[in-house]
Amino acid sequence: MESLFSEEELAAATSKPGERIEALRREIERHTHLYYVEDAPEISDAAFDSLMRELIALEQAHPEFYDPSSPSQRVGGAVGDQFSAVRHEQRMYSLDNAMDFDELDAWMERVREYFGRFVPVVCELKIDGSSIALTYDAGRLVRAATRGDGTTGEDVTVNMRTVRDVPLRLREQSVAGLTNPAGAIELRGEVYMPKRSFEALNAAAEEEGKAGFANPRNAAAGSLRQKDAKITAMRDLSTFIYAVADSRALQAGSQWELLEWLRAAGFHVNPDVRLCHEPAEVREFCRECLERRDALAYDIDGVVVKVNDFALQDDMGFTARAPRWAIAYKFPPEEKTTLLRDITVQVGRTGALTPVAELEPVTVAGSVVARATLHNEDEVHRKDVRVGDTVIVHKAGDVIPEIVGPVLSLRPADAQPWEMPAVCPSCGSPVVRDDVEVVIRCESIDCPAQATERLKHWTSRNAMDIEGLGDEIIGRLVESGLVSDVADFYHLTEYDLATLDMGRVNKDGEPIRLGGVMAKKLLAAIDESKTRPFARVVFGLGMRHVGRTTAEAIVRGFPSMDALRAATEEQLADVDGVGGVIAHSVVAFLNTPDNIQVIDRLARHGVAMEAEVAGDALPQTLAGLTFVLTGSLVQSGMTRTEAGDKLKAMGAKVSGSVSKKTSYVVAGEAAGSKYDKAVALGVPVLDEAAFLHIVETGELPA
Ligand code: AMP
Repeated sequence: MESLFSEEELAAATSKPGERIEALRREIERHTHLYYVEDAPEISDAAFDSLMRELIALEQAHPEFYDPSSPSQRVGGAVGDQFSAVRHEQRMYSLDNAMDFDELDAWMERVREYFGRFVPVVCELKIDGSSIALTYDAGRLVRAATRGDGTTGEDVTVNMRTVRDVPLRLREQSVAGLTNPAGAIELRGEVYMPKRSFEALNAAAEEEGKAGFANPRNAAAGSLRQKDAKITAMRDLSTFIYAVADSRALQAGSQWELLEWLRAAGFHVNPDVRLCHEPAEVREFCRECLERRDALAYDIDGVVVKVNDFALQDDMGFTARAPRWAIAYKFPPEEKTTLLRDITVQVGRTGALTPVAELEPVTVAGSVVARATLHNEDEVHRKDVRVGDTVIVHKAGDVIPEIVGPVLSLRPADAQPWEMPAVCPSCGSPVVRDDVEVVIRCESIDCPAQATERLKHWTSRNAMDIEGLGDEIIGRLVESGLVSDVADFYHLTEYDLATLDMGRVNKDGEPIRLGGVMAKKLLAAIDESKTRPFARVVFGLGMRHVGRTTAEAIVRGFPSMDALRAATEEQLADVDGVGGVIAHSVVAFLNTPDNIQVIDRLARHGVAMEAEVAGDALPQTLAGLTFVLTGSLVQSGMTRTEAGDKLKAMGAKVSGSVSKKTSYVVAGEAAGSKYDKAVALGVPVLDEAAFLHIVETGELPA
């Protein structure tokens, strides 16, 4: 690979590694700031990665330069004193709320009375995240703590280091006559998860059949409190910093000055701030923010108004709960009432019946809501919503609308409790209750609703990704009898598609057909889908509980359809990332004759039925073996996770503790109790050289 660095630079790197490391750290920090805070990257991702790789390589070769503030530590590698209690020297207060403009005016009136005139105030967005206190000492981030009860929080330093827009070192600058403090300083703000990232996180969880977070705020708080900071590092968290615990540490005179200094020191400061001199300006700012709320990338729940001058803040002081010099104007809740016209039932791909509220359309939080999922039968009964009820609909920003509950006083006298139908609304087969998952299911193999959902799943982006084959065309194909299972797609001819009746007529009253051009395109897309990797095929088949990641795990353990069909439930459950429930569902699926017939037809059409051995996937020479890693791998400089991933890529299982079932223990330098246990149990121990031999050849040493 071509080097980004000149000969002299490389020579300097070897002769004066300390200097090179420091120069790289500064450069990487600068680019991180440009990317995450300024949103104005100067170099490509590839060039950035290259700088980071060089830094990591140098740091591994020269552990004497270890520094927790190094940008290389943002991956969440080091384990810290996580979640121990932290006492806040200055209490982290809450804020008093103003629920409407009258209450906001009342607070502004109090300010006027207190000083005999209205004094300038700073208006900021009230970020709906999780509060955070960041302590810097001599310019370096040394501690991050949550608010907790305001007096005592939790130490989340290791996790916060992974949040890219938090400077690990303050930038050396002075603004408004303020320089960086020499000693310790505690800054405060909010950690949040952007709305889009929250939705993506929940979509991924859903795909895996796991419960998601209720809202972006919970997602931010939950991600921050991960025991494994590597998980935090993978979550898209950001911050807005807006306060200092003790303004004397900075000698800042006002909130406005503080914000300026924070920006210059490298923090992410929210751009929507305004210095207001009159109450009318404050109200105007609140109104503007309320209007723009949905367009923001993150959730806000109001506007915080703060007396600007720190000396005047001190004058007003605090109540037991909150500062007197600030108020949180809360936005009106995003809730509306509307009529529940009907509760319909949708049949999903796995046959699960989902009740759906059909509403009199209503605008909530800027968008029209006409339908909302009621999730399952229990939910309908728990909320006790009945057809004819006036219900409360809640929608926060971009988040999916939700039925909060009925307004009981408006319930019609004859409203009946809702009952799940006893037969599938699509095919009329009797339905079965699955108590484990609290769902009612149609178990008929021939249910057309399920078939349609399965077909859509097969063509979807994460499965076979067949472009152009969307809901409408699939619906027409099913209706016309051309397609009823996924293998039928591969039987379609150009004639079938070109003449497909789209169910609409043109102005002359003739039926509209799909046409030759689209037919050619679709056929090409269908044909191309045969090259999708085997893991996508496994996912696309739509077995219950098998999301994308699970499908990949299954394929790592059983890289071909033949191997998978021969697998027992126990063998499957043994694969890392696959458990008993999934194993049961896979085996049941593969023992259903209709499914096998579909799979055989797919195979005959040339759809991939085994993982490619070349490229990313390695031969699974370690399948069935369990490894435990201990000590540090100094020769290769690999972390244990990296080493474990190498073994897993060859089909091995990697476990955290030694037992009689362990096949091998890999012991690096300074191996600990796991080594002793391996010896005691007679488990063979491999040194790093043997481990490297396996990684290179895929074979166990003789
Ligand atoms: P509450 O928890 O409703 O009493 O509101 C107080 C919390 O609002 C604080 O603890 C902060 O975490 C949060 N907050 C969000 N944005 C701001 C802001 N711009 N200024 C002050 N506090 C804020």
